[in-house]
Amino acid sequence: MFDVHTWNIPHMSMHPCPREGWKVTNTIPQWSRNTDFPMRHFINVHEVVEQKEDVMLWTPNQWKEGNKPTNENVHETHAFVCDFDKISVMDAKVIFAKLKGFAYIAHASYSHKPLLPSFRVILPVSRPIKPEEFKRVWWEVQAIFPKLDKSCKDPRRLWYLPSCHSERKRFYWSSAKNGDIFVDVDALLQQSLKRKPPRKKAPPPKFSNTEDALNYGISKDKFVRIQIAEQLGAKIMERGVAVGVKCPNCHRNSVWFTLQPTDGGWARCNHLNKCGWFGQLTEFME
Ligand SMILES: [Zn+2]
Repeated sequence: MFDVHTWNIPHMSMHPCPREGWKVTNTIPQWSRNTDFPMRHFINVHEVVEQKEDVMLWTPNQWKEGNKPTNENVHETHAFVCDFDKISVMDAKVIFAKLKGFAYIAHASYSHKPLLPSFRVILPVSRPIKPEEFKRVWWEVQAIFPKLDKSCKDPRRLWYLPSCHSERKRFYWSSAKNGDIFVDVDALLQQSLKRKPPRKKAPPPKFSNTEDALNYGISKDKFVRIQIAEQLGAKIMERGVAVGVKCPNCHRNSVWFTLQPTDGGWARCNHLNKCGWFGQLTEFME
């Protein structure tokens, strides 16, 4: 059982608020490095401000010595911050249901509204995450929480300290739960190895004439086949077959083809015994 109330994160950094512009915040080294920072501060303390730019930022990172907060300069990450921004009440419920039994500190973020929840969940990690591992871990957690904000998958990401606008202060909330460790870094990395890399889409083919483009459409594209069926005056059956096309051989309206391009460009005459014609759909286009 992990106790978040006595959770001292071994390294965390504080960064100046972006009042002077993000350029300043992003280019100067961290304001302060903290070791053994008591995370319960995130439960107990939050700022009420008129503008977000007045709030200081933090990271659960240990940075390489004296450097700017860039991805390259992250040494290790000591907690996993999940950011959920303007999601539905139902999605928020699902997230906390999935977190049941796990240790976390959660707090409303600056833009939180009761009917449009925005919040952060700070999860302890089984071991520090190395920057080269971070994205793989992040994608595994994202697979569990699809609403995770994609803008925060970089380890360098700075987080505002718990805060809210003065007009929304009555809606602010924070919570802390003891439990198991959700982010088991090695298990998630192991799992990410099993995941197939997303298949790259084949580049669209290049054609040098209309015929090639049409042939490609006939063999690959259902909508091209529907258009052809319409052009040929075919009847489209519910089971996804075009029927009643005039047979080039026996001249009866007995040729049929499937609309799904699963069997290539083939069309067949129904009178297989007496006629037996089968051929390419392209033949009707000549
Ligand atoms: Zn025929």
